[in-house]
This record gives sequence, structure tokens and C-alpha cells, in this order.
Amino acid sequence: MTALLDELRSLVGPTHVVTEVNDLAPVLTDWRGRYAGQALALVKPASTAEVAAVVRACAAAGVAVTPQGGNTGLCGGATPIAARPQIVLRLDRMNRIRAIGRLGDWIAVDAGCVLADVQQAAADRGRLFPLSLGAEGSCQIGGNLSTNAGGVAALRYGVARDLVLGLEVVLPDGSIYDAMSRLRKDATGYDLKQLFIGAEGTLGIITGATLKLFARPTRRATAMARVSTFADALALLTAARDRLGDRLAAFEVMSRTQLDIIARHAPQVAMPLAIEAGWFVLIEIADVVADFDAAAALEAMLAAAMESGLVADAVLATSEAQAEALWRIRHAAPEVGRKEGFVVSHDSSVPVDSLAEFVARLERRVPEVAPDAALAILGHAGDGNLHVLVILPHDSVRDAAAREARVAAINAVVDAETAALGGAISAEHGVGCANLARFAAAVDPVEMALMRAVKATLDPAGLMNPGKLLPPASA
Ligand SMILES: Cc1cc2nc3c(=O)[nH]c(=O)nc-3n(C[C@H](O)[C@H](O)[C@H](O)COP(=O)(O)OP(=O)(O)OC[C@H]3O[C@@H](n4cnc5c(N)ncnc54)[C@H](O)[C@@H]3O)c2cc1C
Repeated sequence: MTALLDELRSLVGPTHVVTEVNDLAPVLTDWRGRYAGQALALVKPASTAEVAAVVRACAAAGVAVTPQGGNTGLCGGATPIAARPQIVLRLDRMNRIRAIGRLGDWIAVDAGCVLADVQQAAADRGRLFPLSLGAEGSCQIGGNLSTNAGGVAALRYGVARDLVLGLEVVLPDGSIYDAMSRLRKDATGYDLKQLFIGAEGTLGIITGATLKLFARPTRRATAMARVSTFADALALLTAARDRLGDRLAAFEVMSRTQLDIIARHAPQVAMPLAIEAGWFVLIEIADVVADFDAAAALEAMLAAAMESGLVADAVLATSEAQAEALWRIRHAAPEVGRKEGFVVSHDSSVPVDSLAEFVARLERRVPEVAPDAALAILGHAGDGNLHVLVILPHDSVRDAAAREARVAAINAVVDAETAALGGAISAEHGVGCANLARFAAAVDPVEMALMRAVKATLDPAGLMNPGKLLPPASA
């Protein structure tokens, strides 16, 4: 391994091969602090050619590669947990905006660009890169594409996959797959770039991407509403769509329990509505048309919904600062759960028209297996994606074996209801190492065999991100 480390130093420069224990530590654990791994080194190449050379050197030495973006993933996908020699590879030095095209609306970036920097580069040209999530200040485009991230704008603009025109990938043998296309239409052959999106780094390292840009909305309005039932929240979604069409930019729901937890653990976040029984909906509408009065349109929609009894209470932001304050409530959610207790979290996806049934089943069945738990639900209702958080009292999970048994029982219930309604166990976070067994249990065997065949073809030596996404063949 000394020879490999020397070679890596000569390829990327000695200061970009980190082996010192304290410097290495942050990349060896995941954002939630649930997984810890080991690596020979953190390696930070500065170009696609350097990534390719690093991968070739590792392949020759039989050393695996764990790609890591901003390390904000929520399923342990970027933590080097496999019991074999490996390096962590990060693209922090590959953070260039390569080019922006006004006609054709595209931006070509290094995959190490932080998402917020890509949003800003688009904004500087008066355009919008719509992918948006709570971790946007530190997650990277490579991580976003590898997890097929969703976020709060997916309702209108789609998930990460929908925003990609072209891709550049270093394959497990060190060759470079250059598909940095700007084509909007291409009917020639398999669309191979799709394989690498959502692959969680198991098929190669994404080093660059050509992404779609959009017109930048100049008119925006944000409101929070309280409705009595989850079915009412969905009725409000339909009403908003009927009335506002594509102007509906975000529709996020939070259960009362979720709001209570935010109020308890994030006192700096102001609550604009009384936290009473029911569900809370954060609605944003946006348009590019200069004379569109977004506030009036949203107010009229909410007034009609209140008149018909659909909405119990609502508040409309009257300034940018108030709109941001409403979003702070939603963005506080990922941080506060762990202060409340031990969070068994799910990133479930079911067809939108089965969501109300899904929530009803969870409210009935989760207390059967976890009567002492708080059930907090939030998420991107318009996408059929709910984050189901079953929060156990810390005292009840101090013993590791007991904790595992409780987590398994809860997962079994949530996954069974997800499957019964034709859903997926992860809508946007991925499988990583956290959800291997659940994924193996849920996925269709034919689909799993196809995935294994793709992996075996592209990465026969299993060098790319071992221990992630694909469960061991015996599982
Ligand atoms: C506060 C908070 C809010 C969040 N909100 C959302 C949300 O609303 N929607 C959502 O979808 N996610 C959300 N997430 C999860 C997370 O931010 C996303 O999954 C994000 O896309 C991960 O990007 P990253 O750069 O941090 O990737 P990492 O966590 O570093 O890696 C994620 C996976 O991608 C692989 N990978 C990373 N870079 C590359 C590359 N260049 N090539 C190949 N593989 C690579 C890793 O090996 C790993 O498997 C949130 C996380 C936090 C902490």
C-alpha cells in the first residue's frame, strides 16, 4: 500500500493525499453519525484526467474507491464501510463552472461544484438551476446526481435525473465516458448516462455534468396553511394545481407532531400559526411573468379554500424575510428529530393517489409496534414522497440489540405498507449501506438480477463503492 500511496501522491500532489488520522476522520463518518469506516487515504484529484489516473492506480493495486461528495447523504452511501482496502475520493478541487449556454439553456459543471454555487452561477446569468434541498450549501453535483436527489422543487422541475443533459464519468477501469452532450433530443441507442444517475457511486465516478437551466421566476409568493386531515392537504394540492397550474412551485406537508418537535427543539424558528390538530402545508407559487401578482393569486386560492372549509387557518408571507422564515420551519426538520429521540426514518414513495391511504395505514399500524414512539411525517406530498419518522425515546434504545430489534419491527411495518401500495422504500435518499436489507427484500428479483448484471459488466472486480446499494449476492 505504501507504493500505491506514493503513486497517488505523484498523480495528484502530496498535499492532496490525506492520511493523517485527524484530517481523515471527517470523511470516515456519515452526516447522521451512524456509520464509521476506514480508508487508506482521502485523495483529492484536480481534473478528470487525474481522477482516471487515480482509479487506474487503485484498480491495479486491487484497492477500492468510495466516492464522496459533500457527505450530506442520509443512508451511509459515502462512508467507506467495506472490510477491504479502499480510498475515499473527493472532487472538492473540481469545482469549476465549465460553461453556460444562454440559447439552449444549459450549464456545464465539474461534479465537485457545490449545489448552491451552481444555483448562484445560473442566477448570475439571470437563469434558474432549480434543484434545491436543505443541504445545498455543502452537497455537490456529483452526490446529487449519484443519489438522484429530489428536494423541494421536484414538484415543478423534476428530480436530479430530469435536469441532466450530459454526463462525464470515470469508469472503474479508469477510462473516461465522455457524454457531456447538450442535446435535448437524442434517439440513438441506449441512454447510458442514466445508468450512473442514482447509482450511488457503484458504477463509476461522475466528474462532470451538463445541466438544464430555466427562466428565473421574478414573482413569488409563499404561505403556510393548516388543514384538518391529510386528505384535506391533498385536496388543497388539487385545488392549487387547478387554479395555479405550473405556477405551483412547492407543496410541502408537515404533521402536527413534526411541528411540535420543531417548536420544542428549534425555538429560534418562529411559528406563524397556532400548532393545533391537523396538518401544515407550505405552499410556494412562482412565475416569470413580470405583471403576475403572485401574492394576490395565492391569497385568492387560499381564501376560496378557507371558504369551502378545506383550510382551517393560513398565513401569507408579505415580504421576502417572512417567506424565508416560513422555509426555515421546513428546513429545521432534519436537524431536530435526533434531539427528540432515536429516529427511525423512512424516505417512502407511493403513488400520489395512494398517499392518504398510506398515512392512514401508518397512523394505525406504527403505534401497534411502537406504542411509545412519536410518529412525525413530513415531505414532498406533491411528489408522493413522505419522510416518515418514528422517533423512539432515547432510554428505550440504549441496548444495541434491543434497538436493532425495534428498528427492524418498525421498518417491517412501514415497508410492508409501502409495498402494498406499489411504493419504493427510498424516494430520494438512496440505499447506501443503511437500507441494503430493506432494498433486497423489496426489489423485484428480475430487477435485482439486471442490476447485478450491470454491476458485473461495468465493475467486475467490485472496486466502486463496495458494500453499497447492492446487497451481497447471498442476501
Ligand atoms: C439537512 C439535509 C437536508 C436534505 N434534504 C434533502 C432533500 O430534500 N432531498 C434529497 O434528495 N436529499 C436531501 N438530503 C440528502 C443529501 O443532501 C442528498 O442525498 C445529496 O444529494 C447528497 O449529496 P452529497 O454531495 O452530500 O453526496 P454524498 O453524501 O457525499 O454521497 C452520496 C452518494 O453519492 C456518491 N457520490 C458522491 N459524489 C459522487 C461522484 N462524484 N460520483 C459518483 N458517486 C458519487 C457517494 O458514494 C454516495 O453513495 C438532505 C440532507 C441533509 C443533511
